[in-house]
This record gives sequence, structure tokens and C-alpha cells, in this order.
Amino acid sequence: MTITIVPPHAASVQSDDVWRKAGDWLQRHQATIRTIQWTMVLVYGALLIVPVFLPLPGRAAYLWTNFTRFAQFIFWGVWWPLVLLSTALVGRIWCGIFCPEGAISEFASGRGRGRAIPRWLIWPGWPTVAFACTTIYGQMTSVYQYPRPTLFILGGSTFAAALIGFLYGRNKRVWCRYLCPVSGVFGLLAKLAPLHFRVDPPLWQLSQLSGIKPKAVNCAPLVPIRTMRGASDCHMCGRCAGFRGAIRLARRSPNHEIVHVAGTVAKPWETILIVVGLMGLAVGAFQWSVSPWFVQAKLWAAERLIENGVAWPLETTAPWWILTNYPGDVMTLLDGALLIAYVLAAALACGASTLSLLALAARSLGPWRTQRLHHLAQSLIPLAGAGVFLGLSGLTVGQLRSDGISLPFVDLLRAAMLTMATCWSGALCWQVTGIYSRVAARRALALSLVGLAMAPAVTGWVLLFWIW
Ligand code: SF4
Repeated sequence: MTITIVPPHAASVQSDDVWRKAGDWLQRHQATIRTIQWTMVLVYGALLIVPVFLPLPGRAAYLWTNFTRFAQFIFWGVWWPLVLLSTALVGRIWCGIFCPEGAISEFASGRGRGRAIPRWLIWPGWPTVAFACTTIYGQMTSVYQYPRPTLFILGGSTFAAALIGFLYGRNKRVWCRYLCPVSGVFGLLAKLAPLHFRVDPPLWQLSQLSGIKPKAVNCAPLVPIRTMRGASDCHMCGRCAGFRGAIRLARRSPNHEIVHVAGTVAKPWETILIVVGLMGLAVGAFQWSVSPWFVQAKLWAAERLIENGVAWPLETTAPWWILTNYPGDVMTLLDGALLIAYVLAAALACGASTLSLLALAARSLGPWRTQRLHHLAQSLIPLAGAGVFLGLSGLTVGQLRSDGISLPFVDLLRAAMLTMATCWSGALCWQVTGIYSRVAARRALALSLVGLAMAPAVTGWVLLFWIW
């Protein structure tokens, strides 16, 4: 009998090798990836366009008997939640391998004008502003329920992606890098991914010293590959795998990027997206339609208007592309105004309280440094991401329930996910505080304040899922 002695780290080395090979496989199979992308373009086009030409589904329509219901379920009940989840698990592989919009934008860029990217386009606030605008506009037009606003919003975004690709860059994804309304959210979630393309600077230098000049890599989302330290901007397309023998797909701790990389450069727009966008505006957007506060505000406003003889805001409607307007489902101007006010109020209230507590936490760690505030905000990404995932999966559950499919453990799963995400954010915060202070009392105070900063968003999700 032969006894093989396995060194303790052998399993880990083997697993690293598996991931390196997976990255190299992606690099060698770019043609397969393009086939996947164009297949996705066809499926996406069919799900987006066909329902617009079909009658609206009746009460007896199920998602397995009606194409419009099926397309709604795929877009909002499956596609969105899974894309968010996959980004947190394996990075932005959706963007690099499956996204039809990215593929169209890059295709157009390969055949377009190839102009230099203008300064206005690289403003770092675009993804946050675009996310906020599309979220509010989606609620105004009931994008989750009707095919026309879905085509208008998603199709409009695809058209803009193609146009930007046609005008700027050569074989690049300028749209995805600077303007896509969800690139900010994906960039945040990718920081949690336990997989990334790792650059080894000494190996890179060694390759340069050896005089080897490999063929340049076309990184479509314009990542400065040599200095890449995080997964936020990388689309995981695999094109740079093996470049100069210094880049490979590798495992890492899901905490690594937030604790050790995210604090090196202050990113105020990411803080706004986390604190105001995901932990405020998104909560309001998912909440308003079931909120008793919204109903009370509407009753109060309607009574005041009628008392003053002003009836038109209660009677006036708008075309479907401004406010929801379908047989049996109509929003008046008052509904629309209150909806916008509710979502903005949630964004401001949650955002202001969370940001104030984060600022106190940053100050409790030592003399004021704005960069520390932004670093602490990064520790909230697990909670912010989990909240949006739960909000979207609420649509999945709602659609399945309306078709008679009950999911008995869903409340338990939601509670577990919210609790784990809150604890994960707390653990990240504790590690981040360790970078700025060695005094345990200061760190504990900062952690307590960040714990309080999480309360508004957690309360918002608890109200939505368990109380209202
Ligand atoms: S750095 Fe660029 S080329 Fe490399 S995997 Fe990421 S997106 Fe692709």
C-alpha cells in the first residue's frame, strides 16, 4: 500500500490552480463568450419587445400561460435578483459575459466614430444620479408591472449604450464604465466577491525586464490593468488572464477589498450611492405602495385640496410614459407627486441620519478625516446590497404567490439574510476601525455608531416585510 503525504496547503494550491485555469479558459474562449452575448441579445430583445405587442394579461393569466407575465417574471423576478447575487459571489461576470447592453455598446464602439471621451462624460456622479432617476421614474410608470415602460426604460438604456459606444472609444465600453445606471451598484457589490483577477506587480516587472512585449490587451471597460487592485471596475471578461504572466483569476477574502483597498481613495459618490441611494431611496421605492404613511399623506393632501376648491390634482392623469395610466390602474398627478415626495423623503431622512452617524463614528476614531468617513461607509455595502436584493426578491415572491405558488420559508430566509448582512457590515466596520485606531474603546464607540447608522435602513426593510 502506498501512502501519499499531502502537505497542509495542497488543497488550497490545487484550488488556486483551478481558478487560474478557469481564468485562462475565459481568455482562450472569447469567441464562445461572444456567442453567449449575442444569444443574450436575442433573448433580451424578445422579452423586451414581444410583450408590447400583446394584450395586457387578464386576471386569469399565469406566468406559464402568458408571455407578458413570463417576461415580467424573468426580468424583475429572476434576472435582476440573480445578477445582484452573482455580482457579490463572482464579481461582474454578468457585465463581461452575459450583458446584452455591454455587448451592443462594445460592438457599436468597434464600428463607430472612435472619438475621445469628453470630460462631461467621466463625471463620477453619473451612475448615482442615473440610478436615482431610473428608480423614481420606474415607480412613476410601474415598470415592474407593464411591458411598455419596461421597453421604454431598458430599451432606452440600450439605445443610449449603443449611441455612446458608436460615438466614443474604439472597441470599448464607455457606457458601462461611466454612465450605466447600475454600474455603480455592481461596482459596489463586486467588492465583496471572493474571486477577482489578481495582478502581481513583481511578476509584471520581471516580464518587462525580460524585454518580452506581449500583444496589448483590449480591456473594454477601460480598467488600468497594471495598477488594478480591486474588482469594482473589472467585468471579469478574462481577456487579460495570463498577461505578462502576472494576471490570474484568484480567490481572496470577501472582506479584503473593502478593508484594505477601498479606503485608499475617497469616493464621495460611492458614499452617496450606498447611504442615500441603496439605504434610503431604494427603501422608499419598494415601500411606498404598501405604506400606511403614504395613504395617510394622500388622504390629508386630498382633504386640504378639496377644502380649498382645488380638484384638478385629484382628477388629472398623464400619458403612461409619465405616470401609470392603464384601464383600472391610473395614477393622478397627486399620486405621482406624493410618490416622488415619499421616495425623496425616505432618501433624505435615511441618508441624513446614516451619514451623520457615520461622521460621528469617523470622528470618534481620531482627528477629522473625510477619507475615513468614506471608508466607513464602504463597510455598509453588505447591508445596502442585501436590502436591494430583498426588495427585488419581494417581486419574485409576489409574482409567484399571485400564481398560487407559496414559499413557506421566505420570511425566515429574509430575516436570516438581513441579520447576516447587518453582522457582516458590523464585522467589516470593526476591521476598518482597526486601520485607524488601536484603542479598543474608540473602535467600540465607532462600531456602535455605525450600528446605529444601519438602523434606519434595517427599520425600513422590517416595516416593509414584517409589519405592513
Ligand atoms: S481587467 Fe479588463 S480585461 Fe481584465 S478581466 Fe477585467 S475587464 Fe477583462
